[in-house]
Amino acid sequence: MSNPTPYNAAVFPAGQDTTQASVAAPKSYISRYVERKRNELFAALGRRCVFCGVETNLTFDCVKPTGGRHHRLSSAARIGFYWKQARAGNLQVLCHDCNSRKGAKPMPAFVPSATVKAKA
Ligand SMILES: [Zn+2]
Repeated sequence: MSNPTPYNAAVFPAGQDTTQASVAAPKSYISRYVERKRNELFAALGRRCVFCGVETNLTFDCVKPTGGRHHRLSSAARIGFYWKQARAGNLQVLCHDCNSRKGAKPMPAFVPSATVKAKA
């Protein structure tokens, strides 16, 4: 925010500068892209949890577990990964609670896949 004096430049080295000005420009383009792709994906899959039906705190979940590696991707790479899973029919929308409960286990057999289509 303020111009760094020699003193605070030493305390806050350039690499650790997290002020808006230093990150806003490159980030906003990518985050807008990710936001748009997320919205398109929610529009395609339905904006509600397939387990409990809530419409808040929604996450994408691979029906057949694919391991946690994509959780460490950048947001842009991750949304690409989810799109690929969705095209392969392997993506569903879960709320955060259901997703944590499901964990990395495969979808239980009793969950009716018809729930996904019910709203549409
Ligand atoms: Zn849920």
